Amino acid sequence: MAATLIDTYRPAEYQALPHLDNAFDSFLERSPQHIIEEKMMEVFRKHKVHNELAVCLIHRHFDMGDDEKLVEFGAISTPWVVRDENMMGGSVKPRSWVFKGGKMIPYEFGFNEWGQPAVYKDVPDKPAFYADFNAILEEEGLNDLLGLTLLTERKKEGVVKVEKTFAKANVVFAQPDSWTDDNAKAAVPAQWEYAPGIGDFVVPVKKMLCFSGCFCTRGQI
Ligand SMILES: [Zn+2]
Repeated sequence: MAATLIDTYRPAEYQALPHLDNAFDSFLERSPQHIIEEKMMEVFRKHKVHNELAVCLIHRHFDMGDDEKLVEFGAISTPWVVRDENMMGGSVKPRSWVFKGGKMIPYEFGFNEWGQPAVYKDVPDKPAFYADFNAILEEEGLNDLLGLTLLTERKKEGVVKVEKTFAKANVVFAQPDSWTDDNAKAAVPAQWEYAPGIGDFVVPVKKMLCFSGCFCTRGQI
């Protein structure tokens, strides 16, 4: 890993992230779906990172304090005061990154619990991939819209993950795929993973993408 590529967390960067509604409006306006399906897929394929990373819509749901980080533990993300990466017998790891000024800045974290296999692995050592991915973001003017997140679990057949916010807690629920149709107005696609098919990517593009890897909800559900 090029040491200069990964930057440290800064609360001001988190506060600067667009709110979900603004991020989604911007996504609709700039419609980068084809870039996710073509150019980005190509670099995921080239560097073989599809089992470790996914593309995410950069957004936040609420404000946090200067001493807080958004930490996911199980299905729930909440603001934590993290004085040391190692805490409560486990560890807090970066899980999502925004690319700014050629650097990857972590903005969401995950907690690996003591005594359990690590859910959040170290950031993959793929500097050439990050450089290629960042080049696409810069070419397409998408640095403020799309980032990278650790792929901690694959989308399961017929199941969609839906994130809902309660005060300052984001909770991820499993729902049937039909949820997406029934809640089209409230559902914001927030993550895209690249699923290899039979024979290493020899599948039609549509099958390689989970358009509904993860949704966030806005408004009343
Ligand atoms: Zn969200």
